[in-house]
Amino acid sequence: MPKNNSTFQATSTLSGTTQLLWLTLQGLFFVLGLGIFAALILAPNLGIKAFWNVLIPLAPLLFVLVVGLWRNVCPLAGIALLPHRLGFSQRKRIPLKWQDRLNLANVCLLFLIVPARHLSLNVDGLATALILALLACIAFVGGIFFDAKSLWCSGLCPIHPVEKLYGQKVLFSPPNAHCGACHNCVIPCPDSTPIADLNCSPKTRKLQQLAANLLTGCLPGFIWGWFQVPDCRNSAGWMECVLAYALPWGIMCITLLLFLGLRRVLPRSRWGTLVNVFAAAAVSCYYWFRIPALVGYGVYPQDGLLIDLRHSLPYWMVVAAQLSALAFFSWWLVLRNPSPGVWALRPPFLVKR
Ligand code: SF4
Repeated sequence: MPKNNSTFQATSTLSGTTQLLWLTLQGLFFVLGLGIFAALILAPNLGIKAFWNVLIPLAPLLFVLVVGLWRNVCPLAGIALLPHRLGFSQRKRIPLKWQDRLNLANVCLLFLIVPARHLSLNVDGLATALILALLACIAFVGGIFFDAKSLWCSGLCPIHPVEKLYGQKVLFSPPNAHCGACHNCVIPCPDSTPIADLNCSPKTRKLQQLAANLLTGCLPGFIWGWFQVPDCRNSAGWMECVLAYALPWGIMCITLLLFLGLRRVLPRSRWGTLVNVFAAAAVSCYYWFRIPALVGYGVYPQDGLLIDLRHSLPYWMVVAAQLSALAFFSWWLVLRNPSPGVWALRPPFLVKR
């Protein structure tokens, strides 16, 4: 584990057994991903439950604890890196200016795609499968032209900004199982650089900082607003579309203003804590609404339901789970002060820019 942000250079070379282990894990997650994709088309109820009500609710917790693990096994990352692994990627460099634009675009994509869940994706397996297929195509085609993780995993992927915000204080850093050797495909590499640097360092480039501020300020309000909107079970009219976007976007503007205001009045030395408070607020808000919804106590009881336990589980237990999540994330992200960590250990350099 690194001790110093600026001097962090820990690298890892995978032994044959470790490589085989990661390859097996990646294969398992790929098969699982394919299974969920097939279920979304052939058995939509099952596919929707598996994807939206099991996998997605687990993701934020995983990002907070060991985001490197997810980065190593994500099936979409596997697809994006396929051309690279099979040796037919052209491995073009993305200029820094365009890397920053991609980082801003992925924040915008996140805020555009997630409200659409209420309009159809949450209840329509085929629509979810189509979106996943589209994202997989973009990731794959990007991998044909651009180097390693630069276009998708550390570029356009709309989940990537959330990984950055939540993965500030990871439990441990696994080896980077995707990059056999580092060719500096992105600068700075989010997998190998302590993330706090990307949010607060004076060295952070302007557009990167804009993307980070936008996400950090907006996300708590966006999540709160998103959970106030019901799923649309019939075809969505313009009123439903307006509601699905206006509520999360409206409230995210309020939290963004709050974040920017606080950033203005606080000294730079407190900005890191401010980012952590907003990260904790966002992930706590997510589980505050998500935990009850999974067992039928949600704002709209049929939305996001995994298993209806309203007749067997007393409500106080749900509240206890909500408060525990709030306490845990506040402690993990705000109160704890671990040594700066990275998502994954950088492999030895092949090329250094
Ligand atoms: S470790 Fe190197 S090759 Fe791998 S994603 Fe980071 S910069 Fe790219």
